[in-house]
Amino acid sequence: MTQVTQRSARRTSSDTEPMVLAFDVVVTRVQQLGANFRRITFGGAGLEAFGVAGDTLDLRIKVIIPSAGRPCPDIASLMRRDDAGSWYQLWLGMDAEERGAMRTYTVRNSRCRGATPEIDVDFVLHLDDDGRGGPAAEWAAAARPGDAVCVIGPNAAAAQCATAGAYGGGEGRPGLAQHVLLAGAETAVPAISSILESLPEHIGGHAFLEVPDARDFQDIATRSSVTVTWLSRGEAVHGEALDAAVRDAVRVPGWVSLAGPGGAQGGTEPEDVDIDGTILWETPQRLEAAVVQSTVNPERPPGTQPFYAWIAGEAAVVRGLRRYLVRDVGVDRKQVAFMGYWRKGRAELS
Ligand SMILES: Cc1cc2nc3c(=O)[nH]c(=O)nc-3n(C[C@H](O)[C@H](O)[C@H](O)COP(=O)(O)OP(=O)(O)OC[C@H]3O[C@@H](n4cnc5c(N)ncnc54)[C@H](O)[C@@H]3O)c2cc1C
Repeated sequence: MTQVTQRSARRTSSDTEPMVLAFDVVVTRVQQLGANFRRITFGGAGLEAFGVAGDTLDLRIKVIIPSAGRPCPDIASLMRRDDAGSWYQLWLGMDAEERGAMRTYTVRNSRCRGATPEIDVDFVLHLDDDGRGGPAAEWAAAARPGDAVCVIGPNAAAAQCATAGAYGGGEGRPGLAQHVLLAGAETAVPAISSILESLPEHIGGHAFLEVPDARDFQDIATRSSVTVTWLSRGEAVHGEALDAAVRDAVRVPGWVSLAGPGGAQGGTEPEDVDIDGTILWETPQRLEAAVVQSTVNPERPPGTQPFYAWIAGEAAVVRGLRRYLVRDVGVDRKQVAFMGYWRKGRAELS
């Protein structure tokens, strides 16, 4: 990893450490996890500076996939440039072949404090019969030890500052909840697995994971009492099994105690999200930051409620579940993180 100077990336409010660093890493291991998942382990001495305070949960990173036959762009040097308004704008301004593709992934495991710092990322191989997919899926399918990419992620030194948590790369915060609902399809499996691994014994609830094939089912270690249910999609429509499982677990009526006052009598229609034009990303933290008046309940701030839900996957599927939980069940929006991880028929917005 190249060192990042003080005037580079986003900074903590104390202005001592950049929150985000660019890490030049190489593939050290490739492991096929099931029919459609590949675990790629990235290593590099610079990763000793990677990390957040506490569990990684659903920690997201950006991975820069180089164009075929091209080296990875030098993001650290963009971050160092004195004239840099933003490294991201500078990267966008590069020739398309030279800049490669930027995609969002979850850190499945992080072992950055040892002699050989590493992170694992589980890539879904969403490929057609000819082996074609997006740049990230195609890259992952062909990845071999020694291949180089750039990862943009949290600076461990910043995480130790008073402003820890400011990286904002994760949403999974059950707070004081006793009962959780975790739901997602394959791209959310790494995040849900990590969240489950972190949950203490006293937390119960359900985790639903829809994957393309029963060969994609994985073992997840959790101390919690959460019931983990794997759903095999087979020939069904993407998200159909997940949607049905959530509706069955969170029924109307019967949800009063967990949904809170007003629950199970129905809620209000949430404003629609144009998933073709924007990213569906509604989380308790975002709502709180935006102070959406209709959702503010001073007696029930986020993180203090008995129920917490985390839902991620294809945007249309997540939008349908948001409507069901908010409008039909009456769940307080500050109890749920709804996240469109990708959009059918559309490449990730860079
Ligand atoms: C916070 C966050 C965390 C994520 N974590 C992970 C993770 O750990 N592992 C992971 O595999 N993905 C993860 N994703 C999803 C991943 O970023 C997208 O799937 C991304 O679009 C893949 O890039 P690509 O270059 O392969 O495809 P793109 O170039 O973005 O898309 C090309 C085509 O493929 C389609 N497509 C994209 N993803 C899928 C899919 N999963 N299934 C079917 N079709 C698809 C698009 O609709 C488009 O038509 C995460 C996304 C977010 C926002």
